[in-house]
Amino acid sequence: MNKLVCKICNKECKSFKSLAAHTRQKHKISKKNYYDNFFKTKNEGKCKFIGCNNDTRFYNLNRGYSEFCSQKCYNNFPERLELAKKIATERMNNPVNIKLSSENCKKQWIENKEYIKLMTTKNSEFRIKQAKWQEDKYKDPKERRKTSESIKKAYDKKPELRIKAANHSKKMWDDPNSKFNTEEYLIKIMDFFRKGKKSKPEKNIEEILLEVEGSFFKYTGDGSFWINRKNPDFTDVKNKKVIEVFGDYYHSEPFRKKYGDILSNEQHCINRINHFKESGYNCLILWEHETKKFEECKNKIIKFINEEL
Ligand SMILES: [Zn+2]
Ligand SMILES: [Zn+2]
Repeated sequence: MNKLVCKICNKECKSFKSLAAHTRQKHKISKKNYYDNFFKTKNEGKCKFIGCNNDTRFYNLNRGYSEFCSQKCYNNFPERLELAKKIATERMNNPVNIKLSSENCKKQWIENKEYIKLMTTKNSEFRIKQAKWQEDKYKDPKERRKTSESIKKAYDKKPELRIKAANHSKKMWDDPNSKFNTEEYLIKIMDFFRKGKKSKPEKNIEEILLEVEGSFFKYTGDGSFWINRKNPDFTDVKNKKVIEVFGDYYHSEPFRKKYGDILSNEQHCINRINHFKESGYNCLILWEHETKKFEECKNKIIKFINEEL
């Protein structure tokens, strides 16, 4: 069953958002009404916690209603973790979502070509990530580290080599016939980004989000979503909120200083928050060490979700 085809007039829509806009404009019914008429199952919209039966809030056409009326009912539900995992897996394996996410990802990458250009010629964070992922490809990570270190040493000894490499990349970008300017190349980088493993702090946050009732946050650190040339780690598109995880090492003052960034940690965070604010997104920054304290971190996220900004 294709949920993206209007049940009233058979029009095919590209996304749930456009279907909602369609039913509102063309048929003058709200998405909630439309959902109630065609999709709502018998017990949907009522709190699952035994004995509560309160009404729950409606999310959207894809997700339907929340399972619980409140964080409290959710926390007290004995099988909540199994349920959260089940819902997350279902959402992840839903062919409609897979198709939408892959199309969106491709679009975002092509739109952000300028950013990729910047990353492959200048950005050190990208190169570090690249090296980190490649580590898995080597049977012996020590061997890989040696290679990275020897390249670094060579660059330190002869800074002109680094400039030479960057210039080579720049030349490739400037040449419209080079492989850098083909769609295949963009998709190759995109795949590379998407296959990158989640970091430990990202996994911690993902686990915490499973325990937060009604969270709209989705992992987007795989390059599937961009805001003004930055790729946030977790995004709630509906409420325009992002969560960024800062690694204790890669975002530390001494490390950033090596690459010419002399800002304090505080200013570094403020800059990131302001970057997203300019596009209308609110940003919560969590440091790696914070994600290790489950309850504290969970409360911080719940507070952020409930904040009316
Ligand atoms: Zn219609
Ligand atoms: Zn309840």
